[in-house]
Amino acid sequence: MKTKIGWTIWFTGLHGAGKTTIAKKLADILRKKNFPVILLDGDELRRSVSSDLGYSLDERNKHMKRVADVCKVISENGILAIASVASPTEKSRAYARQVIKNMFLVYVKCPLDVCEKRDVKGHYKKAKERKKGFEYFISISSGYEEPKSPDIILNTDKESVEESVNKLITKLKEKRIINF
Ligand code: ADP
Repeated sequence: MKTKIGWTIWFTGLHGAGKTTIAKKLADILRKKNFPVILLDGDELRRSVSSDLGYSLDERNKHMKRVADVCKVISENGILAIASVASPTEKSRAYARQVIKNMFLVYVKCPLDVCEKRDVKGHYKKAKERKKGFEYFISISSGYEEPKSPDIILNTDKESVEESVNKLITKLKEKRIINF
């Protein structure tokens, strides 16, 4: 299997849109092909490298900056970085695009009502009830800016997980980011 080195696949979208699900499947498929991949999950990073940060806009942007800086180092070392982070602002995504030479932006698009219904982690319920720790929750009390120029849009309310993953892989092959 061959690839151009130095790519980051960056997933953005609302909570519950499907970023983690698709990112993990993509990583699994690539690892089975012996592809060097590091998966960066926003929630996990919040418990480690960003454990000192909260969820205000300023702190979110700081968190995104750290994730982007880590992705830059990983991809520049020849490993594919896959980042699954809500990244709700154009500013944070623009920073990532600026520092990461080869960044492929995946917009995991799903209407808010569907995400709320999924409520995979029960976070929407907590945000609506204004529970402690959920004072700034994307689309409930804090905005989500749709990306203006994503490299692909996956409509996860209309596609199955397999369809979304296959659509993404086809596009990554087309762009010669992966080749197998
Ligand atoms: P996020 O990481 O964006 O917060 P998750 O991946 O944790 O979201 O949760 C998304 C939920 O939506 C999962 O339960 C998943 O099975 C479901 N889902 C339904 N269709 C899709 C799809 N096409 N792609 C990704 N997830 C989907």
